Amino acid sequence: MDMPLSFIIIVVVVAIILIAATTGNRRRADAQSRLCPSCGCTHPPFAQFCPRCGKQV
Ligand SMILES: [Zn+2]
Repeated sequence: MDMPLSFIIIVVVVAIILIAATTGNRRRADAQSRLCPSCGCTHPPFAQFCPRCGKQV
């Protein structure tokens, strides 16, 4: 088993980037989803009205 060091470094870097992107996206989605003050359901930050109760948010 004789792998070049550069190949191993690339694999490690790609793995770190994938893990960071996955956890980062999940954290960002949690921070962006907002709670409806009326019914308490979550909705995307770009929504102007609650999809469940229709209250303006
Ligand atoms: Zn609502």
